[in-house]
Amino acid sequence: MKTVHVYGGGLAGSEAASFLLRKGYEVYLHERRPRKSDGAHKTGLLGELVCSNSLKSERLDNACGLLKAEMALLGSIVMESAERFRLGAGSALAVDRTGFARYIDEKLSSDPNFHRIEEQIEAVPEEGILCTGPLTDGKLLSSLEELSGSGSCHFFDATAPIVDAKSIDMSIAYRKNRFEDGDGDYINCPFDLKEDYFAFVNELINAEKIMPHGGKKEYFEGCLPIEIIASRGPNTLRFGPLTPMGLEQEGKRRPYAVVQLRKDNLLGDAYNMVGFQTNLTYPEQRRVFSLVPGLRNAKFIRYGLMHRNSYLSSPDVLSDNLSFKKRPSLFAAGQLIGVEGYVESAASGIMAAVYYDQQASGKDFDPLPSDTMLGALLHYVTHAESKHFQPMAAVYSLLPYVKKEERLALAEDILKRVGEYAKKVL
Ligand SMILES: Cc1cc2nc3c(=O)[nH]c(=O)nc-3n(C[C@H](O)[C@H](O)[C@H](O)COP(=O)(O)OP(=O)(O)OC[C@H]3O[C@@H](n4cnc5c(N)ncnc54)[C@H](O)[C@@H]3O)c2cc1C
Repeated sequence: MKTVHVYGGGLAGSEAASFLLRKGYEVYLHERRPRKSDGAHKTGLLGELVCSNSLKSERLDNACGLLKAEMALLGSIVMESAERFRLGAGSALAVDRTGFARYIDEKLSSDPNFHRIEEQIEAVPEEGILCTGPLTDGKLLSSLEELSGSGSCHFFDATAPIVDAKSIDMSIAYRKNRFEDGDGDYINCPFDLKEDYFAFVNELINAEKIMPHGGKKEYFEGCLPIEIIASRGPNTLRFGPLTPMGLEQEGKRRPYAVVQLRKDNLLGDAYNMVGFQTNLTYPEQRRVFSLVPGLRNAKFIRYGLMHRNSYLSSPDVLSDNLSFKKRPSLFAAGQLIGVEGYVESAASGIMAAVYYDQQASGKDFDPLPSDTMLGALLHYVTHAESKHFQPMAAVYSLLPYVKKEERLALAEDILKRVGEYAKKVL
């Protein structure tokens, strides 16, 4: 029996382990949790979601929706679990985070060929699949920097607070999904008065923040803290995460701005503040967010927190098959390689495992075509201009241009090709 070592049991590592178990490998998964945590992960479960419980849109004309459909064809354990633990969230796929991770953990752990080794990796391994994620730190990070011959890149991003549902004032807040009629899955907290919105923005911008060592931080434009978005102009939130469009209530004037909260668990007793990633101190989060109508007495189950995200300069460091140029038996996946987002990280874990298996079985490298969403994303990561390399999420602009209204037809065509590829590699 062939043996493989996977390092890190987050989203990418779980996918890689799952694929290789299916291919008959004996899998050794090295994971430091629960003995050592990083502040973002809260459990010892494999496949834990660290912040939002949303896997984004399910629509095929949305890039992440297409990516998820491709993953399902490639046998994704993340998609399998998400289907089982889905929560209502309009056109988005949100999941009960505990059920979701527990399913992945139990499914992998119950396989007789799966062995979990609880340990912290301190040096870049010689072979296997490295999926230690954006919070890779300490000696392993230094060792990676040494191997790459350059400092790793990094940016800062944050988690959003989670609120106890019982503490939301539903005489002010209301349920509705954007652009849908009737009651919806989201809880909406409306700023009816312009003055209240501007007072909130003012407090948000001036609130006390946690400053990292060194003072200045670099953010990733795709996931800016709410206070940074607000600081770019008083109306930016109204045209961003707090847009009231599609959230009108019958017989009422459209609110000036709306804060949305998304169900975070199956019980429905915890709600995630959508787009509220923040680096405010905890007392300031309590004070400023209680200015949101309906949240005056909000109880916070979890506060937002900022983290340093590390990623490799993959165009320099990785080959097309996601193996290290300087260590061809070691492959990498997940946010560490410069993809951005839960779904993207998980998806790259599947492909690192596919490519690992091709190499370990002595087969020629057979890449997922670069005109599929996942193929295009991985092609970007390994071929982008390295000087300005930044993490990349799934976006339609990675694919040959088509008009918006032609995306569905393109997606159907892509899924046929991914299906054919899956038949070869599964
Ligand atoms: C704070 C934060 C919030 C985020 N919020 C979102 C969000 O809301 N939505 C979204 O789409 N994306 C979000 N992301 C981005 C990204 O999608 C997630 O980080 C995702 O979990 C990445 O998957 P991964 O498998 O690469 O890493 P992870 O899921 O982090 O998995 C890495 C695993 O490796 C383990 N590990 C790390 N170092 C070692 C070591 N030395 N030895 C052994 N084990 C180790 C960790 O314990 C962990 O289990 C967020 C990232 C961060 C850091």
